[in-house]
Amino acid sequence: MKKFVLSLGVILSVNAWGAPLTIGSPDGKLKVMTDVVSGKPVYSVTYNGNTILENSPLGLRTDIGDFSTGMSLVGSKTATVRKSFDQDKIKKSHIDYEANQLVSTMKNTGGQEISVEWLVSDNDVAFRYLIPRQGDTGAMVVESEATGFRFPQNTTVFLTSQSDAMIGWKRTKPSYEEFYITDAPLDTPSKFGHGFTFPGLFRIGDKGWALLTETGVDGYYCASHLSDNVDGVFTIAYPMVEENNGNGSASPGISLPRATPWRTITVADNLAPIVETTIPWNVVEPLYKTERPGRPGRGTWSWIVWQDNSMNMADQKTFIDLAADMGYENILIDAGWDQNIGYDKMPELLGYAKSKGIRPILWYSSSGHWNDIVQSPINKMDRPIVRKNEMKWLRDNGVECIKVDFFGGDKQETMRLYEDILSDAADHGIDVIFHGCTLPRGWERMYPNHVGSEAVFASENLIFEQIFCDMEAFHATLHPFIRNSVALMEYGGTIFNRRMNRDNNSGNTRRTSDAFQLATSILFQNPVQNFGLTPNNLTETAADAISFMKDVPTTWDDTKLIDGYPGRYVVLARRHGDKWYIAGVNALKESVKLKLDLSNLGLKSDAGVVYADEKGKGVKAKDLKIKKMTSVPVEILPDGGFVLVTE
Ligand code: CA
Repeated sequence: MKKFVLSLGVILSVNAWGAPLTIGSPDGKLKVMTDVVSGKPVYSVTYNGNTILENSPLGLRTDIGDFSTGMSLVGSKTATVRKSFDQDKIKKSHIDYEANQLVSTMKNTGGQEISVEWLVSDNDVAFRYLIPRQGDTGAMVVESEATGFRFPQNTTVFLTSQSDAMIGWKRTKPSYEEFYITDAPLDTPSKFGHGFTFPGLFRIGDKGWALLTETGVDGYYCASHLSDNVDGVFTIAYPMVEENNGNGSASPGISLPRATPWRTITVADNLAPIVETTIPWNVVEPLYKTERPGRPGRGTWSWIVWQDNSMNMADQKTFIDLAADMGYENILIDAGWDQNIGYDKMPELLGYAKSKGIRPILWYSSSGHWNDIVQSPINKMDRPIVRKNEMKWLRDNGVECIKVDFFGGDKQETMRLYEDILSDAADHGIDVIFHGCTLPRGWERMYPNHVGSEAVFASENLIFEQIFCDMEAFHATLHPFIRNSVALMEYGGTIFNRRMNRDNNSGNTRRTSDAFQLATSILFQNPVQNFGLTPNNLTETAADAISFMKDVPTTWDDTKLIDGYPGRYVVLARRHGDKWYIAGVNALKESVKLKLDLSNLGLKSDAGVVYADEKGKGVKAKDLKIKKMTSVPVEILPDGGFVLVTE
């Protein structure tokens, strides 16, 4: 990792002429202007001269002073930031980042200072507050933010609501599992009246797109979200007091000096930079080192289709055998293993996995006093004394990855819990997947042993309710543009059973095709993929589909959007080594016929294999010779998909 700061600028004279401070991206297309107007700090963003955000507020309200009104500019400085780094676990393996930096410093009527740090790269704005120690005062509560986003009136939104707290299954919400509104009017109210969770996608008419999220959230702050649109502005909102059953503060308490998390705005005149952005990782750093990097891998898990009754020794061995037959690395042993198999019998099961060369992942509840969960093990991850003992037991029994479920919300105390679990696990050589959880905010880079987070309507919902099967294609065409663009996404998908039960004869009905299921293994990015395969698939599913799933990678060197529109269809290309995997799915009621432009993939050969649906026969692999790189014809059926693998 190299990082250096070039041309550290001189402190510019105070903005005496009254013009706003302006900072542009290296290519000059993206511009941020910031100013103090009648004592209120504001900013605006343009791309190619078109307004993306106008007259948007900045500032913090704290228990030691108000930094949102009565402000005046003290000074500013500029610099150029360049960074090159390798990053596993995300959409791209090597990143070169160049941004222009502006730090503008303001003071309030009490003379207390605060700065806003801006980083503007070709398609991304990142900004945060820098709060110095205020004389004798070294501790502060940030009560609320003025920080907001005012889009032009013709903007439409792609957003998912923040849930009420303490509702849903065993009172476990919020957990970033809500429906999306798409291309909806700017002033559409949120479902629960608590605003919308990150990330949010905005279409500014035909002028461009913006993706909002935040990154760099750790135990020093809470996670935030967007308020409802009030008087044209989405404001940064903190957690609800009711989260965690009312325990813990909803306002972050910080020691000074401290920087807040980064809020990021990815901007472009087309969707490719939205899908391809790496801004959540560009502006954060690893917080500790581990003995080995977090480990990618493919796995099976019985729970997803066979459900709770499969938590027994025989069924778990069956799924270990299935993982071995597929050539996979992992078995995910889900909720209830401690009760139904028992701690005393686990060495036998773990030993069986080891004998087959399969690494076990064990499930835990995070709770705790923040929900009514009975799924066990419970009360093993919520406090350090018990947790460290459990981590030692895991290490002694050769377990190197855990899945921790059912977190309480977005308060700072929960951010500390995520961090404490990751940190204790790292001490014992253990990787961590989170479920029933918040959106990870830069965590792939900050925490080397973080290998997955759910924070989405994941595959379990296909089992729970038919509506999720009916909406599966719709959701799949949203994630690459929104949720999965800013963070890994542990979805647990690729289900070949036509019916969502053990015997493949009852339960919810899958609407999507087998080739669609193959495509999601590429579309949905997470370094650890636990697929919804079942033993009957080995004989009942087309051989070409199974052989694809045996070879599918879970780590990527590059990702490019080829075509698509959120909620309609998507074609995405991901590169693993020399091979590109080009995957598409269609959520429309009619077929889409596309001419794919693959000319920017740098393909060395015109040969490939297409995996597509053959009527009545499931997936069939066919050799393909690409005739014209700028115009490769594909047709995707409704609820269908394809994968093209290049040579
Ligand atoms: Ca869940």
